[in-house]
Amino acid sequence: MAEQTTYPWLEDLNPQQRAAVAHREGPLLVVAGAGSGKTKTLAYRVAYLIAEGVDPEKILLLTFTRRAAQEMLSRASAIMHRGAPTTGRVWGGTFHAIANRLLRRYSKMVGLRRDFTVLDQGDSEDLINLIRHDMGLHSREKRFPRKSTCLGIYSRCVNGKDDLPLVLERYFPWCAEWEAELKTIFKQYVSRKQKRNVLDYDDLLLYWAELVRDVESAEQIAGQFDHILVDEYQDTNRVQAEILRGMYRPEGGIMVVGDDAQSIYGFRAATVRNMLDFPQMFPGTTIVKLEQNYRSVSPILETTNRVIAQSSQRYAKDLWSARGDGEAPKLVMCKDETQQDEYVISRVLEHYEQGIPLHRQAVLFRASHLSASLELELTRRDIPYHKYGGLRFLEAAHIKDTISFLRILENPRDEMAWFRVLQLLDGVGPACAARVVDHVAEARFDPRAIGAFDAPPAARDRMAELSILVDDLVPLGTKEPAAQVARIRRFYEPILKKLYENPRVRSRDLESLEQIASGYKSRRKFLVDLQLDPPNSTSDLAGAPFVDEDWLVLSTIHSAKGCEWDAVYLIHAADGFLPSDMAAGSKEEIEEELRVAYVALTRARDFLYVTWPLRYYSKWYALGDRHSYAQPSRFLTEDVRTTMDEVVTVDESEEELTIDTVIRRNIAERMRSMWE
Ligand code: ATP
Ligand code: MG
Repeated sequence: MAEQTTYPWLEDLNPQQRAAVAHREGPLLVVAGAGSGKTKTLAYRVAYLIAEGVDPEKILLLTFTRRAAQEMLSRASAIMHRGAPTTGRVWGGTFHAIANRLLRRYSKMVGLRRDFTVLDQGDSEDLINLIRHDMGLHSREKRFPRKSTCLGIYSRCVNGKDDLPLVLERYFPWCAEWEAELKTIFKQYVSRKQKRNVLDYDDLLLYWAELVRDVESAEQIAGQFDHILVDEYQDTNRVQAEILRGMYRPEGGIMVVGDDAQSIYGFRAATVRNMLDFPQMFPGTTIVKLEQNYRSVSPILETTNRVIAQSSQRYAKDLWSARGDGEAPKLVMCKDETQQDEYVISRVLEHYEQGIPLHRQAVLFRASHLSASLELELTRRDIPYHKYGGLRFLEAAHIKDTISFLRILENPRDEMAWFRVLQLLDGVGPACAARVVDHVAEARFDPRAIGAFDAPPAARDRMAELSILVDDLVPLGTKEPAAQVARIRRFYEPILKKLYENPRVRSRDLESLEQIASGYKSRRKFLVDLQLDPPNSTSDLAGAPFVDEDWLVLSTIHSAKGCEWDAVYLIHAADGFLPSDMAAGSKEEIEEELRVAYVALTRARDFLYVTWPLRYYSKWYALGDRHSYAQPSRFLTEDVRTTMDEVVTVDESEEELTIDTVIRRNIAERMRSMWE
């Protein structure tokens, strides 16, 4: 780098942030609380490096979503103003997306073919199921672990770099008796993926780690980058830490930022240890702490500080806000879910009237299904919204079907794609599908070979049609993916009508898929983007927007990480939902749930509403015949509640209630209802 220069835009930062941006010697770890400007500092660092003459192509920026990388890069461009070098060539994206790019470039070194395809979670589970089936494990008297559990165990082992017995003992004790069988399944799973030229999500990271373990290839790959920057480091796993170690070259730079109080992916083997161990892993590390919160007004910060103070882990961060006074967060007890919807929508519209656009407001919830009733109400009222973190576009059955055709063409060895496509056909079952796959393998994986397959009479006609489709598609392989999707739709739509409910809606999704495809020149790129960072469902945009391009944000808390909104509504803040019953087993799980709550609350800039319905109808709870009573989340302790305005929205005719009397009454009523 050239002589240290200052730039006028560095004045946007506080001294600690500036020190991080202009840091020169050795690795850098920024540990700081929510809203303290970690992400902003990273974006400025990108701008600074480029301004200092670093080739953008030599910068690797790793983020949690593609969206985050794009936003940071455009921020960096904006910082440098006109005439400055573009950030377009920076390598930015998620670990998985970057792995995909590197692995295609260096496929030979790890013994992969360049045209590998990626299995998503559903495909991986199906493959495990197939193996389990082949081994006859499904018919044992004692029930063998489900396919998703098997994959969960496998994933824990490879991501946490832990042995199978240890993972079983610690996380899946009820599966311990199956250790030997599981080991065989995993062995087969790995060899089957290799034979079929497919990688699952974990493989993308594992192969990348392998690439940089080997000294020779490491030099080449690491040599590609001079500077590595990582956001949200608290949510990386062991394999990702190893990748960074392999990629790092002392003559270059590495900077990671994170907040241990916001680590919420422990269930996927992410580990805060990565942050703690960073200085050992990268000798000579400088640690920078940021303590000023720029996001939230003081009363909100006061509440969130008290929430995280309940943690038994010691997060040494004293956050203070310079944003000054504002409204205290509201804790709102609603009579039931309908009233919760009503309350949230009224406040949203009120703020909208006062000048906060819809997309600057977000409704957050712990689990995707918790927004169902609100979504209905928004649709009914024609209020547009985008939902993040629900069922992803790609996971819908009809989209997966369509994509599978493309995957066959991209990689005819991809047996899961074959199985999916073949079983769509009348008269083709698993056994017949398996024979077709063998037949194609014998023909050196030329998909056109299915034309010569001797199909059983019941399947003959449909197989012949599939063969015509494949014959049409193979020459289209070099053309735009949109043309391929269009041809597949012609074949698939009649099948769709027979197989699924709501064919009209699904058919519109396929239209959108074709539209998305038209933005791509290469089928491979189209498939990869879809699988590694899929768009949100197009059908989750309800109603016609009444203002151009404005919509309310609905998001799971996990997908809200790193974002901020002027007004935030955390709904279903009741015990059983937050902490979630599903994750309220061990002490560590409860701690992680507390951090999840903390992440949710720290997304708010000016207005924060925490709502919980008092009554849940029996669809939620097995308890009682009509409904049961909820309690506010245990994380909203007395100490926290003193910083909030408590609001009760029961009917006016009812007596005035405070939360405490309600809780007492709830308990009493529940005691009685046990005997009704
Ligand atoms: P999280 O932990 O939630 O990811 P973060 O530490 O990454 O938060 P940012 O998102 O970078 O925080 O910043 C939070 C908000 O504070 C943003 O709106 C950002 O523009 C603003 N901000 C950060 N630093 C400064 C500063 N020095 N001056 C003014 N505003 C700032
Ligand atoms: Mg951030």
